[in-house]
Amino acid sequence: MSMEQLIVSCDSKYYWNSYAHVNIHEEMIQDEHRTQTYKKAIECFCRGKIVVDVGCGTGILSLFAATAGAKRVYAIDMSDIAHYARYIVEQNGFKDVITVIKEQVEKVFLAEKVDVIVSEWMGYNLLFEGMLASVITARRFLKPNGIILPNQCRLFITAIQGDDEFILRKKSFIEIYGNLNIIDDVCIVEPSIQNISPSRVVSTHCIIADFNMLTMKVNDVNFTSPFTIEIIQNTQVCGFCCYFDCLFYGKAHLTTKPGQPTHWKQTLFFLKTPLKCKLGDQIKGLYTCHANSKNPRNLDIIIQFSHINQCYKIEYHLN
Ligand code: SAH
Repeated sequence: MSMEQLIVSCDSKYYWNSYAHVNIHEEMIQDEHRTQTYKKAIECFCRGKIVVDVGCGTGILSLFAATAGAKRVYAIDMSDIAHYARYIVEQNGFKDVITVIKEQVEKVFLAEKVDVIVSEWMGYNLLFEGMLASVITARRFLKPNGIILPNQCRLFITAIQGDDEFILRKKSFIEIYGNLNIIDDVCIVEPSIQNISPSRVVSTHCIIADFNMLTMKVNDVNFTSPFTIEIIQNTQVCGFCCYFDCLFYGKAHLTTKPGQPTHWKQTLFFLKTPLKCKLGDQIKGLYTCHANSKNPRNLDIIIQFSHINQCYKIEYHLN
């Protein structure tokens, strides 16, 4: 996908409107693990620095940077939330340190280079929303030895055991008014975003994407990765669970793994029929992720895998 296409799609009004409401920002700020991890990282790296906050929302990360002693902060957001950010900055007495810019980051010109880019751009399953491309374009602001927070982001896959509740709920839905089997299929191909208990994880974990924020390219978000996971108990596998983590130069670590509640939860990819597995079985597969061609903020994901000489292929859409 060309940069042009991405920038055009970034123009979409519905996207900016979704961030204009205070509730969505409230939910993010109240995500304690997320907000505290960024705070910790910002406190480690922003003292005396010139910082750009890509997608500042309410300006919370800019406030953290200013409080930590940043020399100057540029807080950029295209959504109307930027008006609140300006007000919040003033209210907190940081008008002279933080400049709020209501604009698409792709179109912003800064009169000076910055030491630090900070951005909370991650969507469900890491790449949903496609904001990563905007952060990559913001690297043009960086001084030669500048840093990006977070600097590394990884996506993981693991297998999960049968969720009776999910299957029963779907069954009752399908059976109330006769056979609504198409809905059954739709439920399966749409990944489910939910927090699961770590006790449902029944395999080893495998990294399927590992992005270096300083060097990755826009097109790296379209990828195919091989994975191998090993089953750790006799069980019935009902699907795969993906989650991500973000590293801040070893000083802070944000994770969305099962057992760590965050607003991103985990992404579950259910199988059409559960798979009987034994301790020590291997599942080898390929995970393919592509930005959707019509709306690059959505993801088309294909999981192909083999288990004891049987091959499976399922296509999912995250929208
Ligand atoms: N930094 C805030 C908000 C994160 S949500 C916090 O941590 O709470 C991401 C924000 O990025 C949204 O407010 C959205 O409007 C903004 N955003 C996404 N893409 C952008 C772009 N290309 N240019 C400017 N703002 C963008």
